[in-house]
Amino acid sequence: MLVVKVGGADGNDIDNVLADLARRKRCILVHGGSKEVDSLAEALGRTPRYLTSPSGVVSRYTDRKMMEVFTMALAGKLNTEIVARLQALGVPAIGLSGVDGGLLIGSRKEAVRAVENGRVMLIKDDHSGNVEQVNVALLKKLLAAGYVPVISPPAVTRQGELINADADRIAAMVAVAMKAEALLLFTNVPGLLREPSDPATLIHDVPREKLSYYLDFAYGRMKKKLIAAREAIDGGVKRVVIASSKAQNPVENTLAGLGTVIH
Ligand code: ADP
Repeated sequence: MLVVKVGGADGNDIDNVLADLARRKRCILVHGGSKEVDSLAEALGRTPRYLTSPSGVVSRYTDRKMMEVFTMALAGKLNTEIVARLQALGVPAIGLSGVDGGLLIGSRKEAVRAVENGRVMLIKDDHSGNVEQVNVALLKKLLAAGYVPVISPPAVTRQGELINADADRIAAMVAVAMKAEALLLFTNVPGLLREPSDPATLIHDVPREKLSYYLDFAYGRMKKKLIAAREAIDGGVKRVVIASSKAQNPVENTLAGLGTVIH
């Protein structure tokens, strides 16, 4: 079983990943869509905001109104479009948000620490949270029936509240729950770079015990990918690869060694 996540920030080529994915039948696709959320927010006159945690991890600030935009853009628009594109490629794809069939159950963070103007603030109206449980039985049923599940945030709490859970970490949770042999995280850079602006500085090989050292090379949202990779490896996934969604035959070439391999 292969779990593939494709990013939604500017500079990603989702169709390139979908075309390659269409050649293999047994896999699960997870997607984010930060650009999609930002542009819908702007069209609705709501300004996207981001929070930086004291350790430097950047995440979207999702107050109640932004949570609506988040759900519309990801589970409504982008998920449906990706499923349609896969079906046109002959893949029997089925779209699911974390809410469908109780696929991704989690809890909302009571408060989020964020650095603003050099001071640590406690944000209480952010609807972000972590996934704690994956409905494995549902995914197994869909796979057994021949479907390729296409998963998008949001996740949901037991009380029925929608939560903004990070797509990289969702992909890691799904990979662990499904005992995937590999998790591929496709993004808009060739992998983890020593110098983020220079693609020639790719770090090819990251053993688990060196992950915390390499975390220092990652800024902003790349940090989340490494955290997701750590969660997947610690949960028993043998190999996590961060690679470019624009690479030629990205799935096959990444399995053959392209990108940053965390093991
Ligand atoms: P996606 O939507 O594809 O998941 P993100 O924007 O969340 O993409 O994360 C990828 C971004 O992380 C890169 O575009 C880059 O700006 C940033 N980044 C920060 N540090 C690094 C690093 N050391 N190597 C590569 N990218 C980095």
